[in-house]
Amino acid sequence: MKIIDGKLVSSTIRNEIKENILNAERNYGKKFKLSVIIAGDDPASEIYVRNKEKACAEVGIMSETVHLPENVSQNEIESEILLRVNDDAVDGILVQLPLPEHLDKERILKLIPPEKDVDGFSDENTGKLALGKSDGLYPCTPHGIIKLLKYYDIPLAGKNAVIIGRSNIVGKPLALMLLSEDCTVTVCHSKTKNLEDHISRADILVTAVGKKWLVDGKNLKDGVVIVDAGINREDGKIYGDVNFDSASQKADYITPVPGGVGPMTITMLLYNTYLAGIRKTEK
Ligand code: NAP
Repeated sequence: MKIIDGKLVSSTIRNEIKENILNAERNYGKKFKLSVIIAGDDPASEIYVRNKEKACAEVGIMSETVHLPENVSQNEIESEILLRVNDDAVDGILVQLPLPEHLDKERILKLIPPEKDVDGFSDENTGKLALGKSDGLYPCTPHGIIKLLKYYDIPLAGKNAVIIGRSNIVGKPLALMLLSEDCTVTVCHSKTKNLEDHISRADILVTAVGKKWLVDGKNLKDGVVIVDAGINREDGKIYGDVNFDSASQKADYITPVPGGVGPMTITMLLYNTYLAGIRKTEK
């Protein structure tokens, strides 16, 4: 059994991004910039935003955090976003979710043009992913999962990939990505009957649910590849959706939690910011 080491893959990709950024600076005098808009004082969001700032600094991306009060009006937040939409120096715009409830989230997110949509959630980027086009920006967590599988040269074509979870940010986009890699994809969710049967057919099993130890070793195929995106906090500790000790008895490859999928999400945000900037520069 091999551990899929998200910290290792993440640091390898971050070094590549850093190198690419230095080259773009040398060749074009290009500077890269990410703007993050946050409204309110959600403690988890503040930690995420701080981590994003730190990661940007590490690879040489300038980052700006626009911190708006909880009671910010729809007009105010929209004009802050439009300023960045129209600023050529800004390559990527990210609105930290959740937003305070009085705000119209859909309207706000729609202001971000697809070429600056570094979260990859816009209708246009989702459509490009669905159509198998390579000129969009892909959602960070599922893209990070694909990078993990590729780093370890895990064969994908023809494999049965079973994804548990169908959210717009992980499960659904990942299904499209694995389909593009020629997997046969099954997407399970809370209404799926006989989940164990689906699990037992998986060559590649990805969980993105948010339920501690939903999956254990019991129904797994020998040699399965397990990618656990779940983050479940309990008594100050983080657990995955998969019981690692039991599942690792059957798996050829498995991600730990923490240290598997987690580090890849911000890394792919850095990658998207670089990609957005370099596409604009080389156009
Ligand atoms: P979400 O929007 O809550 O979606 C959860 C999915 O799990 C839904 O599709 C739900 O089905 C399904 N589900 C719930 N209970 C189930 C069950 N008993 N059996 C089968 N399916 C079940 O969550 P998300 O945003 O995708 O996040 C999922 C997990 O990944 C969370 O733990 C989150 O913290 C983690 N996550 C991690 C990262 C990272 O960077 N590592 C990034 C994003 C998310 P229905 O659709 O039928 O409700």
